[in-house]
Amino acid sequence: MDIKIQNATIVDGTGAKKYLGSIGVTDQRISDIGNVKGEANIELDASGLIAIPGCIDAHSHADQTLLWFPEAQNFIMQGVTTVIAGQCGSTPAPIDNAMPLPSMLRDYLFEISPHKYSPENRLFSRDVVNEWMERVYGWTITYETMSQWYKEVETRGTSINIATNIGHGTCRYQVLGEDYDRAATKKEVEEIKEHVIKGMQDGCIGVSVGLDYDPGYFADEKELLSIIECVKEYDGIYNPHFRKNIRAKGVQGKYFNRYFGYIEVLDHARKTGTPLHISHLCPTYGPNKEFTEAWDVNETPEILFEAAGKASMVPLVDALEEGMDLSFDTIMWPWPRKRVMPYLCSLFTPLLKELGSRERFGEWLKIPDFRKEITRSMWEPTGSNPPIFKSPRFPDIIYVTVCKNKEFEGKTIRELSLMLEKDPFETYLDLIADDPDIMGAVEFIFSAEREIREYFKHPLCSVSLDSSTFNKDYQLKNPPYSLAGQDMRSTFSGFPAFF
Ligand SMILES: [Zn+2]
Repeated sequence: MDIKIQNATIVDGTGAKKYLGSIGVTDQRISDIGNVKGEANIELDASGLIAIPGCIDAHSHADQTLLWFPEAQNFIMQGVTTVIAGQCGSTPAPIDNAMPLPSMLRDYLFEISPHKYSPENRLFSRDVVNEWMERVYGWTITYETMSQWYKEVETRGTSINIATNIGHGTCRYQVLGEDYDRAATKKEVEEIKEHVIKGMQDGCIGVSVGLDYDPGYFADEKELLSIIECVKEYDGIYNPHFRKNIRAKGVQGKYFNRYFGYIEVLDHARKTGTPLHISHLCPTYGPNKEFTEAWDVNETPEILFEAAGKASMVPLVDALEEGMDLSFDTIMWPWPRKRVMPYLCSLFTPLLKELGSRERFGEWLKIPDFRKEITRSMWEPTGSNPPIFKSPRFPDIIYVTVCKNKEFEGKTIRELSLMLEKDPFETYLDLIADDPDIMGAVEFIFSAEREIREYFKHPLCSVSLDSSTFNKDYQLKNPPYSLAGQDMRSTFSGFPAFF
């Protein structure tokens, strides 16, 4: 025996109760488990620790950055050993001479082609992408198909197991190019289908669609049914990101809220007979609706959350009763309930882009008419005002983490505004003006945490992080200067926090 782990609380993943025991490892494999006798070369004491099998992340965007971070530190450090990637309609391939910009180049795109809100183009030529890749990372993108991408991953080596869908959106870009904001013709649908089939032949496990995103949002029902149907022959699944965001409104004059988005994908599965796995299922009802965070959710009776969770699951339970082959996952994003901004000024990303640095933004905040403009614009519906400031609770949910003035650290904007005897929003801007590098965190406010607990109880529910791979030192060079794991999706800590 090479390794013996003793006194571990073992959770074996079969659903059995946890128990205290030991684990033996020989030739990199578990050779014995329970009450392991005999000596080992390495003996480890796991008192007070839990030993579990590697976790499976059911909804991952690992494919987007895996070649940049093959170690996948954020997954492996939290015990995730397998990811199901290629989600929301997006995969690294197929790509020919035009491709969506690899996400790891977005930070640099800003330097080469500055933009305040979003970049001008969706697609970039391989030559341009590779010129930037060479400059920034010293390697180029040579793959065109999923099978070539898999080989590339194997050649470099990675610390996780990965299975992927074929992304309908990526296939759609290949056929329609920049002219994607319309329904595809019959001939184009056939071409999209060919790409999807090629993906399945290359080893993908199903097809993913991103019905809130470009270009999948523009696909009509005929196109969707056709690509969902064709994976059946390859034992593939249909893995949709259903219409649940702002774009759910008014699509095809029919799907106007999250509930109908959810019904739509169930309908696709019903019509095609393709097994359905719904990505990141979230409540369609709830007492704690997004952007109605003005009131204190802690005062809401628990039973309302429970009812909302249960009501949201009704169409799913009905479909299962019908005999539909169905499963789903849900993001455990309510944990750890905090979102690192990381800088207070990060909430003003478009302005930061315009001014070029945190320091410049801080300087401009001292100029009265600029300050007035920002304050006024906070109440106008443009892309530059973060919705968080519209909440009367914003001063209570944002607090300072790192500041030149140590006295301010750990205090909420409300506490600081009372201390400095200023309006909370003025306080917020003053803090940045005095110390542009001031950092902060937001208590999670759009949480559907309590409704989601109903999902966890369902036997067909799996959990997911919805994250790409990162190493722990990663930070964007440009606004919003994000750190790896800055988002609410628990990039580094979702699974342990969940357990
Ligand atoms: Zn998604």
